[in-house]
Amino acid sequence: AKEEGDGCHRFYEPKLATAMTEKMRLENGLYNALQTNQFSLHYQPKMNATTGQLCGIEALIRWLHPELGLVPPDKFIPLAEQAGFILEIDKWVFREACRQNKAWQDAGLQPICVSVNISGRHFFQGNLIEMIASALEDTGLPPEYVSIEITEGVFMRDMEQVIETILYLRKLGIQISMDDFGTGYSTLNQLQRLPISDVKLDRSFIQGITTDEKKSSIVRAIIELVHSMNMRVVAEGVETDDESRFCKELKCDELQGYLFSRPLPAHQFEELLAVSTAA
Ligand code: C2E
Ligand code: CA
Ligand code: CA
Ligand code: CA
Repeated sequence: AKEEGDGCHRFYEPKLATAMTEKMRLENGLYNALQTNQFSLHYQPKMNATTGQLCGIEALIRWLHPELGLVPPDKFIPLAEQAGFILEIDKWVFREACRQNKAWQDAGLQPICVSVNISGRHFFQGNLIEMIASALEDTGLPPEYVSIEITEGVFMRDMEQVIETILYLRKLGIQISMDDFGTGYSTLNQLQRLPISDVKLDRSFIQGITTDEKKSSIVRAIIELVHSMNMRVVAEGVETDDESRFCKELKCDELQGYLFSRPLPAHQFEELLAVSTAA
């Protein structure tokens, strides 16, 4: 058994070591990344499905690591959550999105609502309401121009507490979206109780929607239900003309995806916003 273990050891160690180092390098680098401005935000447009006009944007974090290059959020957000550092990241993202949006408004560009992803952790640790209120106050962005996106799973953890927090946030004047709708535990039967403005249909529902009849009838039913509660539906991850046409037929209110634009760095998005303002 010892020999076998030895064999395994020799075989696996280098790979394991590399994986560990990368994870540890990322983990250790988080704090420094915030201190030295390695994070930035990219912005992806949301389009009004009826008019085709730009109607909102989602802020998405990017990490340019000095040695590892661009690290995708799926790689470091979970680490930041485990390390408890996500509260700091959320705080930075929310402030930066508000600051940037206010700067665009002050420059005379078309006023637009920016959506910020907030980790579910923030509902159970730290002080979300205070974090948001102070960022709004310090940046001077009117609250109707920011919303937060929270994933469906958060609601299932402690529905009552989450509802209470959301009611406070709505009193501050900001909007709340349910992100990745349909992927987690089903909140369908509870949806009515949730003080949210819109649900974002996960990309997995949009993919194949044009050919998969089962999928399209499920999506149709979800959209009807959401509309009956006076909430909007945003389709995520729209990549093709066919998907876009289909989502419109199913009466989605807003569309977001590579078909319209990839998430863009601030200066590039600004050009798009200037064109939309002039139109
Ligand atoms: P999400 O909130 O569901 O964001 C949508 C993801 O889909 C983004 O990936 C976006 O770039 C990508 N996407 C947009 N359109 C399309 C499309 O047409 N096709 C495909 N295949 N993908 C599309 P990204 O930026 O890599 O972010 C991944 C996840 O990381 C996000 O999923 C969100 O859960 C998390 N995340 C991103 N930024 C932040 C942040 O600032 N704070 C927190 N807490 N989480 C964030
Ligand atoms: Ca999101
Ligand atoms: Ca999503
Ligand atoms: Ca997602």
